[in-house]
Amino acid sequence: MQTKCPVCERSWTVGVERLRTAVYCSGRCRVRACRQRKAARDSTTDTLVVEHPTETLNTP
Ligand SMILES: [Zn+2]
Repeated sequence: MQTKCPVCERSWTVGVERLRTAVYCSGRCRVRACRQRKAARDSTTDTLVVEHPTETLNTP
């Protein structure tokens, strides 16, 4: 079975080249995806703060 890295779109054979649970082709791609997700979340947080000001006030 082949799977594809969602970051760089490189494909590999599941269970042979990578673990069956692997999502990304390498740790580098995993970090990149993590950073992109965080960056996307951070950019939406700016608008969410305006929409839900109570969320930031409730944090201790
Ligand atoms: Zn990759």
